[in-house]
Amino acid sequence: MRAADGGMGMGSFAFFNNQFVPLGEAKISIRTNALHYGTGIFEGIRAYWNARQKQLFVFTMPEHYERLLRNCPVLRLDIGKDVKELCDITLELLRKNQHREDTYVRPLAYISSEGLGPKLIDYETGFAIYTLPLGDYIDTSIGVKVGFSSWRRISDNAIPARCKVTGGYVNSALAKTEAMEQGFDEAIFLTHDGFVSEGSAMNLFLVRGGKLITPDYSADILEGITRQVLIELCREELGLEVIERLVGRSEFYLCDEAFLCGTGAQVSPIIEVDRRPISNGKIGPLTAKIQELYFRVVKAEHDKYQSWCTPVY
Ligand code: PMP
Repeated sequence: MRAADGGMGMGSFAFFNNQFVPLGEAKISIRTNALHYGTGIFEGIRAYWNARQKQLFVFTMPEHYERLLRNCPVLRLDIGKDVKELCDITLELLRKNQHREDTYVRPLAYISSEGLGPKLIDYETGFAIYTLPLGDYIDTSIGVKVGFSSWRRISDNAIPARCKVTGGYVNSALAKTEAMEQGFDEAIFLTHDGFVSEGSAMNLFLVRGGKLITPDYSADILEGITRQVLIELCREELGLEVIERLVGRSEFYLCDEAFLCGTGAQVSPIIEVDRRPISNGKIGPLTAKIQELYFRVVKAEHDKYQSWCTPVY
């Protein structure tokens, strides 16, 4: 059943045009503005199934909707709902879809008008959410091989990289495809100025001398929620120094450990960059520790961070 219906159980529901409808009925016109011009803002949220507690927990859900609502005005989109309403709709959708496994939630705000021409004003906002079962998006157990992309990261003055603008993901698709065709698992973008930015859909950290280093917001990165979560967890729980600053390409070659992070990517160790091994081509010890802590937190197994996990049932 999974393969035939793209991973969605039969009878799955979507939230579309302000109501819950069977997924197959959530359809848009081919004239939809967002389809042609990439005029949408989306989110990616994960819910984790805790088998011991027989409970599904949505991780940092308000934070994701806060980001969505902060991003929307950049494209002049107005969903007409607040964070609480969006969280309630998401919980109801997850319950309707009866997920009892790790699940991905994809909210999308977009210009639903059929007007011709790329502009942002005098148009209607559409909003939809769908859910699907999702395990690892990239393998978190063996480590990934990455390569610097020949594609530069979109700069903030072209398409706001710090927002989840659908059209901006052409940049990601070009880089990811190039990386895959070159035999890498993932692409790493440089900014126009040649500083390390991020992966196609994930932020990144380096470990040097026991300290964590991550590109700051001026490196045209998405304002990642996982990145923020890890900064806090590493400082609070592991007592690590975390430095946000510009990172040079060769620092990647020289680092002790590196990993990708994101809602989809979770904590994915990097074991090779541009065919140069990192941490002897094995998952680094600090990365392993951070990964273990992250998975404990997202599954609501860490008492101190229960409030980051919203139970569905
Ligand atoms: N960068 C990009 C370009 C992304 O698409 C994502 C995934 N949302 C991330 C970073 C990681 O962000 P988050 O931790 O909020 O999922």
